[in-house]
Amino acid sequence: MLIDTHSHLHFKKYDEDREAVHERMAEFDIKTITVGTAINTSRDGVAYADEHPDTWAAVGYHPDHVTSDFEDEDEIGASKEPYDIKELENIAKSSKRVIAIGEIGLDYHYFTQEGTMKPGLTIEQAKKEQQKVFLEQAALASKLNKTLIVHARDSVDDMMRITAELRRTDPNLRIVIHGFTETWQTAQTYLDLGCYLGIGGIVTFKPRKTTAPEDTLESIVKKMPLDRLLLETDAPWLAPVPVRGSRNEPAYVRHIAEHVARAKGMEYEEICKVTTKNSQEAFACEF
Ligand SMILES: [Zn+2]
Repeated sequence: MLIDTHSHLHFKKYDEDREAVHERMAEFDIKTITVGTAINTSRDGVAYADEHPDTWAAVGYHPDHVTSDFEDEDEIGASKEPYDIKELENIAKSSKRVIAIGEIGLDYHYFTQEGTMKPGLTIEQAKKEQQKVFLEQAALASKLNKTLIVHARDSVDDMMRITAELRRTDPNLRIVIHGFTETWQTAQTYLDLGCYLGIGGIVTFKPRKTTAPEDTLESIVKKMPLDRLLLETDAPWLAPVPVRGSRNEPAYVRHIAEHVARAKGMEYEEICKVTTKNSQEAFACEF
């Protein structure tokens, strides 16, 4: 068995061939957590997990939606339902299949581009607003004893500081850093704080020439302790080699597992076993 700990399987991009996607998951004995990004996509994800025994759900309000009105084609209607922590709590409590709060966090990536922020918001205000919403949802994860799935883009210093705060407030909070792509030094900070690192398809890509050898995702995977390693696709995005560029899907997590097994000098079956055990611990869930 292999767990893809982060996908968006309930999104529209699978409407045409959902059955085939689930059949391929069954063929390779793969299960997944489908992740919400707004109120509507969280609610839909829970309904989806309720109907699919190979899928669990995470509910959360993504930082992009806090500070911009942008919605992906998979998220149509998201901006009609603004952030509402009470409603998120209701959704989180609506099913036993909800095992995490996420993806939530900080994303400063688009702040400098025109037209990607809500009108009248300064960059400083936008950062503060995202931090407030993140902290509220993290508190909800503590309250409900759910795992936290953290999204952090172009915000590493603030995220490390806030993660340290969260760890002080709740020593037992299970924290997953989703789609980890930072430096080895940052990895160590998160590992010291007891976080799990979610490793995705980027580990199969050729690193940028500007990346220091010790900071490539592959060398980080080699060095990091095995018991904090989680594998994830972030499907439909970021398909790994050898299917890079195509629509991603949970069954492709096996390509990531193969790559990580090679990097670690282990057998594929061994990586499956270890990362499944890690997933069970990270999400307090018997998949
Ligand atoms: Zn995602």
